[in-house]
Parts: sequence; structure tokens; C-alpha cells
Amino acid sequence: MAVRGLSVRISVLPVYFDSSILSSFVVLMVRVIPVRCLNLQEYQSKKIMADHGVTVQRFFVADNSQDALEAAKRLKAKEIVLKAQILAGGRGKGSFTSGLKGGVHLTKNPDEVEKLAKQMLGYNLITNQTTKDGVKVNKVMVAEALDISRETYLAILMDRAFNGPVIVGSPQGGMDIEEVAATKPELIFKEVIDIFEGVREDQALRMAASMGFKGLLRQQAAEEIKKLYHLFLKVDAIQVEVNPFGETPDGQVVCFDAKINFDDNAEFRQKEIFSQDDTSESDPLECEAAKYDLKYVGMDGNIACFVNGAGLAMATCDIIELHGGKPANFLDLGGGVQENQVYQAFKLLTADPKVEAILVNIFGGIVNCAIIAHGITKACRELRLKVPLVVRLEGTNVNEAKRILDESGLPITSASNLEDAAQKAVASMVPK
Ligand code: GDP
Ligand code: MN
Repeated sequence: MAVRGLSVRISVLPVYFDSSILSSFVVLMVRVIPVRCLNLQEYQSKKIMADHGVTVQRFFVADNSQDALEAAKRLKAKEIVLKAQILAGGRGKGSFTSGLKGGVHLTKNPDEVEKLAKQMLGYNLITNQTTKDGVKVNKVMVAEALDISRETYLAILMDRAFNGPVIVGSPQGGMDIEEVAATKPELIFKEVIDIFEGVREDQALRMAASMGFKGLLRQQAAEEIKKLYHLFLKVDAIQVEVNPFGETPDGQVVCFDAKINFDDNAEFRQKEIFSQDDTSESDPLECEAAKYDLKYVGMDGNIACFVNGAGLAMATCDIIELHGGKPANFLDLGGGVQENQVYQAFKLLTADPKVEAILVNIFGGIVNCAIIAHGITKACRELRLKVPLVVRLEGTNVNEAKRILDESGLPITSASNLEDAAQKAVASMVPK
């Protein structure tokens, strides 16, 4: 999961638990809950901001160096800023596998834009928020650069601690905001918003002043804050982060960077925004699973787990490890299951070449075990399953399910409980 900026880090802080059991539980929970979340690139977020009257620079997007050059010429700007588009932050201080240093470059020469874009596009950008391999850059943003006299930090987020929106600001924004938060917490200001009332004028002005805006600039910054808050509500965001929220020498307040996170539960009323979902950086299996309303999480081991519910997923992973095995992934089937979903689930689970055994652990509460059993036998036949399969079903219609599996003539190992299932799955693999 890519994170950008300060406020996201704050919200995942519970990951830093001391106890290893607790930490693996929390990490898994963190992974299980936001399995699919909409991610937009900076250029997409800035388009939304511009549509809501927020001040951003003029820009174009390019996916090849020739178009980047054309865009730079078309902007007719005194200076150009070229920015690699990846979902992770820390780009300014990142480096490319091409050897180029810095994911954000300023230049006055459009030809230089072409040269720089060549060293960005198609290469991986490694930042302090990516893995060590970095993330492949498929697009660059070519924008009119503006001088910045001061960089501040602004974020609006839904904060559980306040049961609603909070505006977070700091006079010291820019690339070292994490350090400011760690070493000078007194420079991080908060304004708690009553969602029914919205941002009051005095709150916007107070935040602008705390962020160091003076005179007319204070009024302007307050206006930007109010527009950003309006956007935040309108698009069902859970976070809008602008770093730097900058001041220019000619007296403008400009959003130089943008990261918006959305509430996945609002997908039904934000269709246009969700249709822009950039999944190029997501696990393709996760995206495929989402199409069938399944939740997929990839891991490092070799036993595929097919479960229903996040709690059962974690219990299954734990007990596999307890018996000396390692989960390769888990697929959470959720509630109202169709036979076709079971088939798709098997297809996904076996698409991972690391998988050497499959463990099905389903508790039929809402789910009817017979449907699962039909799905399993169909998938085994049609996919010509080559790895051992251990099945533990419990709950609604379980006897009928067992009969279906037994009479199928397929090499399926039944297990009577979770412990038994885990032992059989670990034992089923051919030792290397
Ligand atoms: P991040 O490193 O991924 O957060 O990328 P940003 O978009 O925040 O850019 C990194 C840094 O580049 C900013 O903190 C600014 O200092 C600088 N920068 C970005 N755009 C401009 C611009 O238009 N003009 C100037 N002078 N600096 C910019
Ligand atoms: Mn930034």
C-alpha cells in the first residue's frame, strides 16, 4: 500500500506495536480492511481541484518524451516543472533506475524537458515510500513552474479521534514535513470541523494565520482552505493533502502538490471519480479479485488459503504458520456467495505459481456449504487442479456439502477442524 505524506502516516501508526503477535495481527488488519482503495495520480487530483476552483498550476500530462516536449512548448512558461507520476510520495528526493536523481525537476529549457522525461518514463522511481525496487513511471506531469517564497503544509482528513473532519496545517511544509512532525510537534496545528456547520470563517482565518500567512495572503489562504474543504465533502474524500501549500513572491497561494484519498463506500455516488482508478501500481490479482467482489491478499509462502471473513483469514494464516507452513495468499469470499465466485476464486488462487497446496476453510453462516462444494468440484474439474486440496467446511448444510465432495471422485482431502486442516495442508506438500 503506497502512502504519501504526513497524515496517512499518522493514521497507520498503530502498526508500530512492540509485540510481534499483535503487530502481525495489526499489519494484517491494515491490509485486510483497505484491500481495494481508489488511488488517483497527482494530475488526476489536481484536475479535480481545478474543477472546484482551487488554485493549481497549468499543466499537461505525457506518456512519452516527445509529448512532454510538445507540452512544455505549449505551456509557454518562463520555467517548467516536470514531475514523475507515481502514487507514492517523496518523489522530490527519490531516484530513478536510469540513474536520474529527483522525481521533480525544474528547467527553463523545453529541450531539457524531453531529455529528463526520457530518463523518467519507463524507469522505476525509488522513494522513501516505495519498496527498494521502486515503482515504474508511466506518465509525467509537465506544469508551469512558479517561484515559491514559502512552503507550508495543509491536509483535511476524517479523523476517528474527533468523529469527523480535521484540518491539519503547518507553517513548515515541503519535503521534510515528517521531520517537523517528529521534532517540532508544536508547529503542527489542528482545526476540528463540525461536519454539519462546515468550516467557519474564523477557523479558516485562524488556520491560515497559524500557517504563517499574513495580510492579504492570509485571506487568500483561508479562501483556498474553504474551497478545499468544500471539495473534500463533495467528492467523499477521507483525506486531501497539499504539500507544499505554497506562497509565491507575487502574492498567490498555490497548491503545488495534491493527494486525495476517497471513501470506498461512496463509490456508488462518485462513479466518475472511481472510473479513473489507476490500478497500474496494484497487484493485478487483487484487481481481478475485486471484479468478482472477492478480497485477495498476496503473501510470501506456498499455501493458498480460501476463507470467508477477515477473522477466519487471520486464524487460518496463524495456524498454518504454527504447523510449520507459510500462507501464499488468502482469498476472502465474504457473505452472499455464488458458485461462479468460488470458481473465480480458485482460478485466482492457483494463478500464483508459488502455490503448492490449497486450504479451504469456510464457515457457513450466511454461506451455504453446498454451494461452496459445488463450486469447488466444478473448479477442480475445469481447472484440472494439480496441487493438493484440503477442505474444511462447517456450518449451514455441511452434510450435503461433504456428500458432494465425497461423491465427486476428486482427490480432495477432508478435514474435520481447523487444526486438522492446517496439519493436512502442510503435510500434503512434497518436501523439496
Ligand atoms: P513529492 O516530493 O512527491 O512530495 O513532490 P512535490 O510535488 O511536493 O515536489 C517536491 C518539491 O519540489 C516541492 O516541495 C517543491 O519544493 C518543489 N516544487 C514542486 N513544484 C514546484 C514549482 O512549481 N516551483 C518550484 N520552485 N518548486 C517546485
Ligand atoms: Mn509533496
